[in-house]
Formats: sequence, C-alpha cells, structure tokens
Amino acid sequence: MRLVLFGPPGAGKGTQARKISAHYGIPHVSTGDILRAAVAAGTELGRQVEATIARGELVPDELIGRVVAERLGEEDAKAGFLLDGFPRTLRQVEILDGILADQGVALDRVILLVVPDTVLVDRLLHRDEGRPDDTPETIRERLRVYREQTEPVAKVYRERGLLAEIDGVGTIEEVFSRITAALGDR
Ligand code: AMP
Repeated sequence: MRLVLFGPPGAGKGTQARKISAHYGIPHVSTGDILRAAVAAGTELGRQVEATIARGELVPDELIGRVVAERLGEEDAKAGFLLDGFPRTLRQVEILDGILADQGVALDRVILLVVPDTVLVDRLLHRDEGRPDDTPETIRERLRVYREQTEPVAKVYRERGLLAEIDGVGTIEEVFSRITAALGDR
C-alpha cells in the first residue's frame, strides 16, 4: 500500500504513522524525522536545513524532493510506504508524481488528519518530545505555513479522488480505527 499522511503540526501524524506502518507492514517515511536525524548527525544535509527548521519554515522543494526520491528508491519501500510530512507544497506534489511515475506505481490513498487550531496549539505546547521547534512563535509560523502552502495540497488530492479526511480529535485508538476503516480494513 502506498499512502500519504498529512495534516497540520500537532495533528498526531507521527503517532498515527507509526501505528499505520506497523499494521500494514510498510516503512514509515517521515521527512521531518530524516531531517532531524541529519541535523543530529551533523551531515551536510543537516547543516543546510538546521536554521530553516528552527524558524518553522519549509526547506527548499528540490532539496527535500531529492531526499524523498532517494528514500523511496530503497528496497524496503518498493512494495509500499507511508509518507509522513511530504508532499507539503504543490511543487512537492509534482515531484512525488515524477518519482512514482518513474517507478511505474501510484498512490492508493492520501489521509488528512483534521484537527481545530485550538487543539493543535495546546497539543504542541504540551508534547513531551521537547522539539526545539515547539516554541509559541515557531508553532504560529508552522501553522501559518501549513494554511498557506500545505492546505492547497489537500485540494489537489481531493480532486483526484484520493483524499480521506479523518477526524483527528479523540484517543489514539479512536483516530487509528477511523483510519483503518477509511482504508477498507474493518
Ligand atoms: P515535521 O516533523 O514534519 O513537522 O517537520 C519538521 C520541519 O522539517 C518542518 O517544519 C520543516 O522545516 C522541515 N520539513 C519536513 N518535511 C518537509 C517538507 N516536505 N518540505 C519542506 N520542509 C520540510
């Protein structure tokens, strides 16, 4: 199964992505995790993106596109994957279309977690991972960027008939069962 999971920061993408990945036996490909690992390891990529992540802005499309192309080219992603945090702009949708066309495959479903802003801010300020980009100013910027650049991505996938909009408010298990129901696993 080839899936994309997206939604605003604080929607619970990471938690649900880990559960979906385990349930369907597909690798969880989180661009945020890949970039944070690169920053922690002090690689060339990490140095290029560190300041951008700290500001809550998006790293350049072509750069993240290369990262995703490389990751989806790995053996474990050949039979399926769950993308988390990509694509985030209309240009990234085109880049993903190109990667999938090269592989001769297509997306099965795009899952959008829907959560009201008030709930998001509260969750982000209280999550215990201690991410350096979870400060009030950066959270505001990340929500702004999401509305401006990522919401149009939902529209594209809705028009393609791929979008499953899932209510992201509730317990982890409640949200997860809505997702598996939408994916046709009851
Ligand atoms: P996330 O963990 O998905 O919230 O990502 C953390 C940060 O990594 C974002 O705020 C961006 O700075 C960067 N990032 C992750 N994925 C992308 C992407 N697809 N395009 C651009 N920047 C990204």
